[in-house]
Amino acid sequence: MDVKTFSFTINTNAGTDIIDITQEVQKILTDSGFIEGSVLIFVPGSTAGITTIEYEPGLLKDYPDFWEKLVPSNKPYEHDNTWHDGNGYSHVRAALQGASFTVPFSGGRLLLGTWQQIILLDFDNKSRTRKVIVQLTGK
Ligand code: ZN
Repeated sequence: MDVKTFSFTINTNAGTDIIDITQEVQKILTDSGFIEGSVLIFVPGSTAGITTIEYEPGLLKDYPDFWEKLVPSNKPYEHDNTWHDGNGYSHVRAALQGASFTVPFSGGRLLLGTWQQIILLDFDNKSRTRKVIVQLTGK
């Protein structure tokens, strides 16, 4: 059993940006030589999240629509009284989404479903450069 930690950076846009990072994660796994185990994908920061989705045009609208209904961007948040950065909703969405996701792998391949991609969600109200941590545990 071994543990290795990698990272990559990705540029995002404001407003619940959804980016497919499956290829980046698979490439790290392939280059590592790991065969069996699990990979933890984590985004540092309090306004972003990681999950999986079917990365197709409909859901890329449905999912941000869902977040807008659940945690509206156009209402006041107490957070803005603290920092005046206007992104209270971004923090609440990120807290609920979660900052990490774990995927098992076998034979050097991520065991994702055919229509299941790993996504980085950026809920912030401005463009960011995000670092994504990829930690492999296995052999
Ligand atoms: Zn903030």
